[in-house]
Amino acid sequence: MTRKVLVTGGAGFLGSHLCDALLARGDDVLCVDNFFTGQRRNIAHLMGHERFEFLRHDITFPLYVEVDEIYNLACPASPVHYQFDPVQTTKTSVIGAINMLGLAKRTKAKILQASTSEVYGDPEIHPQVESYWGRVNPIGRRSCYDEGKRCAETLFFDYRRQHNTRIKVARIFNTYGPRMHPNDGRVVSNFIVQALAGAPITLYGEGRQTRSFCYVDDLIAALIALMDSGEDVTGPLNLGNPTEFTIADLAAQVLTLTGSTSQITYAPLPSDDPRQRKPDITLARQLLDWAPTTGLEAGLGRTIGYFRGVVGV
Ligand code: NAD
Ligand code: UDP
Ligand code: UDP
Repeated sequence: MTRKVLVTGGAGFLGSHLCDALLARGDDVLCVDNFFTGQRRNIAHLMGHERFEFLRHDITFPLYVEVDEIYNLACPASPVHYQFDPVQTTKTSVIGAINMLGLAKRTKAKILQASTSEVYGDPEIHPQVESYWGRVNPIGRRSCYDEGKRCAETLFFDYRRQHNTRIKVARIFNTYGPRMHPNDGRVVSNFIVQALAGAPITLYGEGRQTRSFCYVDDLIAALIALMDSGEDVTGPLNLGNPTEFTIADLAAQVLTLTGSTSQITYAPLPSDDPRQRKPDITLARQLLDWAPTTGLEAGLGRTIGYFRGVVGV
């Protein structure tokens, strides 16, 4: 029987790639999105596909459908967008998780939560391991996202303990690639769009903070492997690429690969911006037999190619 899979946030950056991958392996895909940060063009090529269906819906409201698996990705991911309406961000993470868990409980579907490295906050442990509980400000500008995602993890584990819901929790680290929103505000899309336009590259702080960037295809393969894993594999599981770069390194790479003559300008570091981030992916390697295979240069090359098409340079 064809698997019926619900992808919330399916018109977003990661969600649209996930829909592609699930359709390619023969699943029936129901994509749900309210287009807060998602784009029609991300799923335009899927409209008319016989196993694809789109539903415009906000997951903070109940949803009654019949499915076998749920990937819960709905939530703005860029700081600019999740801080635009912070109360809605918390509602999406918390009330959205309750609704999707209620749906999973009723249908006995497996459910995967797109959690985040932000649950570690500005970490004292480096690289971050799943057993680290994090260092998160509960009342700052990033809290709507960080605490919302932390509460969603709590809900997932309580639904498992209380109702035996089949859960999977992925802690996703910075992922980039084609179909990021050009005005998304995240560092990779910002730097590429700026470089291609010949506009100044906006480096926050001195650019010494670090991140570890994962190419989208690697991440999608991990999400599907986690969903397919044995029932005892609940996570939380770190998913990302452990190769760490400073943000200044990233700016230099983007300038080289685009051949841009953009200058670097410095802007203040946003509040609570984590100083360092790098996943320890030992558990994902062991449990999923997975590791990322795309390096930054190759991944940036493909992403730059996409943005050239979008911004027309
Ligand atoms: P994105 O903003 O491109 O996608 C999020 C999607 O969710 C959008 O299409 C948006 O319209 C939709 N959405 C938001 N609120 C909704 C609601 N209430 N109801 C229905 N749809 C809603 O971001 P992304 O990078 O694709 O992230 C997808 C998920 O992965 C998010 O949950 C995010 O927190 C998580 N994540 C992403 C990264 C990353 O680096 N890309 C890192 C960690 C976690
Ligand atoms: N829910 C949903 N779809 C379903 C089943 C439940 O959206 O198919 C929502 C429902 O509105 C409820 C939430 O999920 O608010 C949690 O459901 P649960 O059964 O856990 O709680 P209860 O309904 O007992 O409050
Ligand atoms: N950043 C930057 N310039 C930008 C956008 C982001 O220097 O135009 C920095 C930001 O301060 C952070 C890092 O790049 O240290 C990653 O930012 P992003 O918003 O992509 O993700 P997150 O902070 O959630 O990891």
